[in-house]
Amino acid sequence: AKARGRATSAFFEPRQVSLARDNLMLESQLGHAIEHEEFALLFQPQVRACDGQFVGVEALIRWNHPQRGLLVPNEFIALAEQHRLIVPIGAWVLREAARQARLWHAAGTPLTVAVNLSTLQFQAPDFVASIEALLAETGLPPGWLELELTERMLMDDVPGVLARLAQLRQLGVKLSVDDFGTGYSSLSHLKELPIDKMKIDRSFVQELPQQRESAAIAGAIIELARGLGLTVVAEGVETEAQREFLLAHGCDQLQGMGIGAPLDAAALQAWQQARTPR
Ligand code: C2E
Ligand code: CA
Ligand code: CA
Ligand code: CA
Repeated sequence: AKARGRATSAFFEPRQVSLARDNLMLESQLGHAIEHEEFALLFQPQVRACDGQFVGVEALIRWNHPQRGLLVPNEFIALAEQHRLIVPIGAWVLREAARQARLWHAAGTPLTVAVNLSTLQFQAPDFVASIEALLAETGLPPGWLELELTERMLMDDVPGVLARLAQLRQLGVKLSVDDFGTGYSSLSHLKELPIDKMKIDRSFVQELPQQRESAAIAGAIIELARGLGLTVVAEGVETEAQREFLLAHGCDQLQGMGIGAPLDAAALQAWQQARTPR
């Protein structure tokens, strides 16, 4: 009976059960990953479209998992959000990004560092105060820190969001709307938002320039951003044809594998030294 029991569980253990167990293990490891120094930031370059000038980076988190190797955000951010671990993890990302930005500034390389925020992090009552404290601690000029918010984050609790954005703006940090075009922002609401930048989602950029619908949408987003006086960045730029389309339509900045991959700080410096801007 014992042998059969074991055989049964080996054959019929539902996939959900083993997935749930996997997640439970990952969750508890995630809770210790900060103290074990298992997180790392990569920085993906952003360049000015007209001349290729290196102007900033987006910080992208990675988890060096002791058994599973290097994990990308899709493999752990949702789990971190479910268990509120995203709040301390997000604070780590902000600290690390600001520290690195300060080093670049001290070395004479002024780069804007953009950081992705999660809803829970942005909604925490002490979020604005934590940014203020971070700027004071690191001595980073506020204008060199950029916060990326998704459209969805801007559409929930509109009065609260507006107040928080205004306070962040007051501190002098830059505010950017990530994945623009994939969410639900209403244009009248957009007009009220104190933001600096829009990022065209990769899904539109990918199909440029051939696909007529994506070309129309990307062109319209660029025009909208410029009309609102915002900087517009295209993400996921991979090909020369995409770069040309975006440049011709007045996109300000470019980011993507065709420009530069996400790299650690040392590799980024090598990338910068090796390239010839155009
Ligand atoms: P995102 O904000 O849209 O970031 C861009 C993602 O596209 C990155 O994936 C980047 O590596 C990838 N990418 C860049 N250029 C190209 C390209 O030319 N082609 C293709 N196919 N992909 C490109 P990554 O690093 O895996 O990040 C995925 C998402 O995870 C991010 O999407 C962001 O929403 C989230 N994320 C990353 N870091 C953080 C973080 O520190 N905190 C939070 N809350 N979320 C983060
Ligand atoms: Ca982003
Ligand atoms: Ca994005
Ligand atoms: Ca995206």
